[in-house]
Amino acid sequence: MKKDELLEIIMSCNRCGVCQEVCPTYIVSGVETNVARGRNRLIRLGLEEQQFNLDNEPELEKIVNECLLCKACEVNCPSGVPTPEIISNIRAHYTTTKGLPWAKKIMYRGIFSDNRKISLIRNLARIYQKSGINKLVKLAGLFNKTDEMLPDLPKENVRAKLPVLLKNFERPKHKVAYFLGCSVNNFFSSIGIATIKVLQENDCQVIVPDVNCCGAPHQSAGDQDEFIRLAKNNIKKLNELDVEAIIVDCSTCGSIIKEYEKLFANDKEYQDIIAKITAKIQDISSYLLSIDFKREMGQINQKVTYHDPCHGIRFLKVKDAPREILKSIPGINLIEMKEADMCCGGAGSYGIFNPKLSRDILARKMENYKESEAGILATSCPACTMQLSFGLKLHKLNGQIKHPVELLAEAYELKKI
Ligand code: SF4
Ligand code: SF4
Repeated sequence: MKKDELLEIIMSCNRCGVCQEVCPTYIVSGVETNVARGRNRLIRLGLEEQQFNLDNEPELEKIVNECLLCKACEVNCPSGVPTPEIISNIRAHYTTTKGLPWAKKIMYRGIFSDNRKISLIRNLARIYQKSGINKLVKLAGLFNKTDEMLPDLPKENVRAKLPVLLKNFERPKHKVAYFLGCSVNNFFSSIGIATIKVLQENDCQVIVPDVNCCGAPHQSAGDQDEFIRLAKNNIKKLNELDVEAIIVDCSTCGSIIKEYEKLFANDKEYQDIIAKITAKIQDISSYLLSIDFKREMGQINQKVTYHDPCHGIRFLKVKDAPREILKSIPGINLIEMKEADMCCGGAGSYGIFNPKLSRDILARKMENYKESEAGILATSCPACTMQLSFGLKLHKLNGQIKHPVELLAEAYELKKI
């Protein structure tokens, strides 16, 4: 976006302060520079260069990087100021002029851009967890608990299990593609396995295309070139498929694929193809409701509460569907926790680069979970799953973090016993 356009959008802020009530970074810090209004004001001053230069203010860069891009301000803003879009533009500007910081470059371009490298790092991390080195690191007080953010890694990723997981139906009722994102594939394989099993239980022929990362980490860091490269590859793979829907079990992947439309807004060649693809993107819970999923299942006697991922509720606009799925399972008592739609502080790799703010936001989420007295905290995003599981460890709380589709898969299994 051009400087004049950005300034015009920023000027639409009437400084009412409504964003203070919903912005997680402001709620936990109480600092005006950590809310949409303050961030926008400083960016405006930097862009107008009246008081300081945008490019030479490390404090401003820090404030820009501390935004979660959670969209809570935007959806509640009376003037509709798209603060996350403003922040993303400034991050892209920093990345173009200064390059990515080395740690983000290694993590995003070096690892997340390549499925084989994510897999390799996952295997090394598993050795780290299983060999006991992690316990020594803990004793030595290294890493400030950052390594504890990693879940217990599964032996194999989902892709390695596909030959035994995927069924061939002679006459399937539905034919769908499953967008297997890198987080679910490598770190939360139980979610991916459950998604495939539940779809097949509902007579869906499932195709798992060979996609790469959706580009969420790159987009969030302002690395537009790499985001475009990854998006083009995914668009090519998804466009080849003859399916009625493209299923996502990760709210972030779903939202980011839908963002491809904006990314190629000026590219005629891609517009029609992307429109076709995004029309087929469906969050797993919404899709199951749309096909009137099988209700015959076993009983799970648990008190469950649901955390809305930012990308689920504010980007994909999915609120009721996962709750409907949970309520359909016999024995589940679904209760609402306070501030269910407030960001958990996970926001991809936010917790690694902004540990203090991330953990303060997480502490509030875990307090709300504790107060709900639920035994299971359900959510539909692997990044939230990672953060919330870390929250259980950090705050020494009992309970489990589960995707609604994992509970549904369990309930189907229980019926067969
Ligand atoms: S809610 Fe919107 S208009 Fe009001 S201060 Fe925040 S960004 Fe500005
Ligand atoms: S996107 Fe979220 S963290 Fe960023 S300013 Fe808006 S409410 Fe605050």
